[in-house]
Amino acid sequence: MTADLRVSGERLWASLCDTARFGAIPGTARGMCRLTLSDEDIAVRTWFVAACQDIGMTVTSDRIGTLFARREGSEPGLPPIAIGSHLDTQPTGGRFDGILGVLAGLEVARTLHDAGVVTRHPIEVIDWTNEEGARFAPAMVASGVFAGEFSLDYALAAKDRDGVTLGEALARSGFAGEQDVGAHPLAAHFELHIEQGPVLENERLEIGVVSGVQGIRWYDVVVKGQTCHAGTTPMALRRDALHGAARLAIMVDDIGRSDPGASLSTIGLFQAWPGSRNTAPGEVRLTVDLRHPAVVGLDRMEAALRDSVAALEADLGVTIALSPVWSSPPVVFDPGVLGAITAATQRLGYSHRTMLSGAGHDSVYTARVAPTGMIFVPCEGGLSHNVAENITPAEAEHGANVLLQAVLDYDRSNS
Ligand SMILES: [Zn+2]
Repeated sequence: MTADLRVSGERLWASLCDTARFGAIPGTARGMCRLTLSDEDIAVRTWFVAACQDIGMTVTSDRIGTLFARREGSEPGLPPIAIGSHLDTQPTGGRFDGILGVLAGLEVARTLHDAGVVTRHPIEVIDWTNEEGARFAPAMVASGVFAGEFSLDYALAAKDRDGVTLGEALARSGFAGEQDVGAHPLAAHFELHIEQGPVLENERLEIGVVSGVQGIRWYDVVVKGQTCHAGTTPMALRRDALHGAARLAIMVDDIGRSDPGASLSTIGLFQAWPGSRNTAPGEVRLTVDLRHPAVVGLDRMEAALRDSVAALEADLGVTIALSPVWSSPPVVFDPGVLGAITAATQRLGYSHRTMLSGAGHDSVYTARVAPTGMIFVPCEGGLSHNVAENITPAEAEHGANVLLQAVLDYDRSNS
């Protein structure tokens, strides 16, 4: 019975520890530097290809170097169910962000291989190129080209700090394939990932069923008033840019509290000029980051931000320029994939909750072209993009078991 199948937690943990030598940062417990298509990334890709071929999988790559390790199914013509994430890391990253998703995919394939299970759909384990965006910007670039967000030429022309392009690094690596990027239909895309936040750990839950990714809007704000003498200018006659910016900061915080559990607002950067103890600032520059899981929510927050700006301009005699600089729409994952993940989690008896992802993942883009869903497992202290990033072997095993059972479920009930 495939419902009784379980991954080997020990073997998965051994893969995580073994591959951590490709890019381990000396002097740290678990720190990793495995930048896209560096020698370390080439080494882990070579390891991954060999491990997949060892159990009879066929590995191909597309023109941006994304690896597709395929285990054939029994029904010809069905597109593959994919298990994807990334093997590259931040320059001071950990050994689980992305890596868990790919190596858990390998563990699922090994488990099916050992049990002699043949699924209806082919199963493919995917290592998406350059998810982190640390060596080449933007992040999630290969899945972005796959989904039509970026052109291939744009992606291959991205340069690292030394002026090497992604295309040149790819040619050197030997991992550039012939397949056109995106010309690879997927029946579904499952991604297991560490949460990279503190919610599951705080609530002592084993699994997060990720229903989507919140939308993000960024703004630059410049508040202009008049610089004046701190001792000679009566309060009533001032047009103090910092006063306007401070009032705006409180209003932005209120906007983040307006829809509890959904809305988030942050002012991450705040600078006043000229920066002298006895001069009222004439100019303040600040950034605003608004997040919400729904477009209507983001629209409402943006409208409130514009109203706040207009009210302050009228009240205080300052001018406030508000410029949108970037926006990422919310993503809602597929109900069928989420249903399979939830059913698997319940059958396995793991404690869980539904939650949103606060960070971007390759699944953001695959969701545009294939039914997609994600599984989160807790990480210590919510830390990620940090050499201290950590999870336990049991957490990795739970996530991989959910992945295995959800993929089997999906394979049975979809075509
Ligand atoms: Zn990641």
